[in-house]
Amino acid sequence: MSLPTVVIVGRPNVGKSTLFNRIIGHQVAIVEDQPGVTRDRKEMEAEWTGHHFLLVDTGGWLPGGSDLDEKVSRQVEAAVQLADVVLFLVDGSVGLTEDDESVAHWLRRLKAPVLLVTNKADNDRRENDRWEFLALGLGEPLPVSALHGRRAGDLLDEVVRLLPEGAAEQQSDIPVSADGDQLWNPNDVAPPRVAIVGRPNVGKSTLFNRLVGEDRSVVHDMAGTTRDAIDTLVDTPDGPIVFVDTAGMRRRSRIDDSAEYYSMVRALRAIDGADIALLVIDATEGITSQDQRLAERVDASGCPIVVMLNKWELIEDAEKRLEVLAELKRKLYFVGDSPILKISALTGKGVHKLRPVLQDAIEQYHRRVPTRDVNRVISDAQQRQPAGHGVKVMYALQGATDPPTFTLFVNRELPHTYLRYLERSIREAFEFGSTPIKLRVRKRSE
Ligand code: GDP
Ligand code: GDP
Repeated sequence: MSLPTVVIVGRPNVGKSTLFNRIIGHQVAIVEDQPGVTRDRKEMEAEWTGHHFLLVDTGGWLPGGSDLDEKVSRQVEAAVQLADVVLFLVDGSVGLTEDDESVAHWLRRLKAPVLLVTNKADNDRRENDRWEFLALGLGEPLPVSALHGRRAGDLLDEVVRLLPEGAAEQQSDIPVSADGDQLWNPNDVAPPRVAIVGRPNVGKSTLFNRLVGEDRSVVHDMAGTTRDAIDTLVDTPDGPIVFVDTAGMRRRSRIDDSAEYYSMVRALRAIDGADIALLVIDATEGITSQDQRLAERVDASGCPIVVMLNKWELIEDAEKRLEVLAELKRKLYFVGDSPILKISALTGKGVHKLRPVLQDAIEQYHRRVPTRDVNRVISDAQQRQPAGHGVKVMYALQGATDPPTFTLFVNRELPHTYLRYLERSIREAFEFGSTPIKLRVRKRSE
């Protein structure tokens, strides 16, 4: 998972590298009192209140490449295109210049979330220098003094607030073995976590043993997230998979999870740490109200669901089979497009169909759509059907995966129905299928 990127832009000599150093905390960039001296793009990982991001100093640059070679300009443009947040730095002590205006013009067209920062506000009085920059139409300027560190904390608070949510937290999603060793290289994608849930006696243990028993080798027992939970890491031809909270499924003499209440608690705990849930239902009993309650809770957690209609071989009558499927559609309507597999965990019939379904669901869950494509889909959707009343999404990006989470930067509050429309457009354009996707809306001060 890559870090969110914060890019500092501005005409030469406004204090970009000073600010860069201030945020990073060491002197890495060379600061010289001469325009355009710091030309190299510098990138360093920065941290503020537990949020990590990549800070990029674009050096001395002007749009149009007036006094710098094109290569530098292109590099800066590329950096800004990839930015999650742009810090547009101006020099409050000098006041608004034409160069600031042309940078602003370029940034406005880009529609990225831009934080206008007036530097060299070394004292209270100098803070007032900022008002003139309101004319740039990029919202209220934030005054800082990069040199003295004045209000740098406020600036960073604001930066962190604008970062795509969840982007930083994903870094620590690496399983750790009992002795604290990382089981996977941090650069690897953590293996997907699968929870098998369902009320007692539907066939969870039978299914689990069937899944891990055959050609696959169990690699590790891992301490789960709670004390009596055991996760099982299984090597499959599709790569490793972790089955979450398998304590009750591994042993013959099982811990007593026959109480329905307890099985619910256990299921909810398991899905909490899972990327996908296999909801096992005993087809011979139809869809009980407890199946329904459990499904509702799993669905509400945002965990994608695969419905496993188990003991299917016991229902021989074709009409009865259709009845069960109709009941499923009616009572579990909210799981929508979730795949439904008719299986017999006991005989193994139909279980093989799970693998491609699982693989696809997991792929979608981890998928990242390029910002360019997100914006294309959103702008097409807006063209087909505008929100009306001048409400607009100015810019959009996928801020996080697991599940795919999209951030929409809007000029004003979007109507709820319109949000659903945009969600549908994204889902259809990128074929997310049953994978849950989330939309976050950010209002851009204009
Ligand atoms: P850059 O070209 O945008 O990277 O600008 P620099 O970081 O090289 O800064 C240009 C000049 O402005 C240097 O002389 C800095 O010492 C000075 N400078 C930077 N930040 C501040 C500040 O907050 N207050 C004052 N008074 N000077 C600053
Ligand atoms: P759990 O409580 O959900 O873990 O359920 P178990 O895996 O212990 O299964 C409960 C009972 O259902 C056991 O007697 C299993 O043999 C039986 N069972 C599980 N899957 C199937 C199946 O596909 N067909 C039939 N006929 N019985 C099954």
